[in-house]
Order: sequence, then structure tokens, then C-alpha cells
Amino acid sequence: MRYGIISDIHSNWKALSAVLDVLDKEKVDRHLCPGDLVGYGADPNRCVEEVRRLSCLTVLGNHDSVAAGREEPTYFNPHARKTIEWTREVLEGENRGYLKELPMKRNEGGWLLVHATPSEPEAWHYILSEDRGAREFPHFNEGVCLFGHTHYPFLLAQGPGGFKSLRGNKFHLEPDTRYLLNAGSVGQPRDGDPRAAYGVYDSEAMTVEFRRAEYDIATAQKKILDAGLPRFLAERLSKGV
Ligand code: ZN
Repeated sequence: MRYGIISDIHSNWKALSAVLDVLDKEKVDRHLCPGDLVGYGADPNRCVEEVRRLSCLTVLGNHDSVAAGREEPTYFNPHARKTIEWTREVLEGENRGYLKELPMKRNEGGWLLVHATPSEPEAWHYILSEDRGAREFPHFNEGVCLFGHTHYPFLLAQGPGGFKSLRGNKFHLEPDTRYLLNAGSVGQPRDGDPRAAYGVYDSEAMTVEFRRAEYDIATAQKKILDAGLPRFLAERLSKGV
């Protein structure tokens, strides 16, 4: 099986469609989405509809939770809050219902999916360092825990020699090693590279690739401005921050 990993789409249809064009051409069998389909961008319905159409294995993100009315955006910054309130208004009933029913965790084929952390998924903690990541390993049993939320590609291995952060674009998953993995954000990358970030997992070859796709950033920005959403959210897309 080959899986496409599409996380933190954040209502950015231009980015999602560019990534799916590549994954469709390569005929991946299944899609994995560790949450945050909506928030920040201007195309929430189109993005949720596409994820539903793909029968993607999806978990709940914090923006999805607020958009669906499961929690209030009390801890959101003003830009995120303004956009999520707009998202609540425009989100169609079936799409809201889909988000509302998403589980916090899901597993398939020896992988666990969660948006933030396996230890306390509903607390929306951020795994941004090797130390923070290492503390999560006792909280999952699967070989790989796939997460999102930080918008940074990240791969931490726990093998016979201890913990090791892996850098690069293509990795071979070893049988005696467990992994904590984030393929970055499709719709709002924050690692300085504005191209959409996604991943490909091949369960036969046991490889994972971190990939980037060029997309029409100018149109995604224009849609944000045309919808009356914060200019800051448009500007950051071309910087990848
Ligand atoms: Zn996110």
C-alpha cells in the first residue's frame, strides 16, 4: 500500500489540489490526514468535501474542533479566531457534521494518527523538540505515530541505540525502531519553505518521503483577502512562516 500524508490543510484549496494532483498521478492507495482541515484559509467547504470524497483516514484537529462547535476558540490568537468564526458561519451542515464526528485518535496498519500528542490529544500540546517528542513514546504502542499541529516536518526514531532525530527527505523504517512522524503542513507551512508539505508512505518498501509541491500561492492569498480575512494570514503563505 502507498499512502499520501496530508496534514494541516487549513482551508487552502490551491495547496491541497496541487498535492492531490501529484498523489493522483502516482496512484496512491489511501490518504492519511492528522487533522486541521479548516482554519486560516478561505476554502473550508471545498477542502472538507475533498477529504470526505477521498475516504481519508482523518482525526480531529483543534481548528476542526472549534469550527464544528465542539470547543470555543478561547486560546486562539486574534487572526485565528476571526477566521474560525468566519469558518463556522460558512461551513455547510454536512461538512460541519463530518468534523464534529472525527475521533481524536485512529490506527491502521501499525500506525497511530493523532493531531497533537498521543498522551493528551485533547490538550493540543506542540511537539517541537526531540526531548518533547521522546516523552510521547510511552503513550503509543504502534510502530509509527503520525501527528500534525506544529506545521514542521519532524521525524524522531526510538531504536536499539536510543532516540535519534532524522533529517532528510527519504527514510527507511527499520523493524526494531519506532517513530514519531510529522510530514509538515499542506496549507500553511512554517519552516521557511512556502511550498505545500506532504508525505508518502510505502508500506511494502517501508519508506517514508517528505515532499513539497509548488502551488498557486497568489490565488490562495487573494481568496483570503476577498473573504475579508486577516491580511497577515495571506502574507505568511508566501514566506512559509
Ligand atoms: Zn494546524
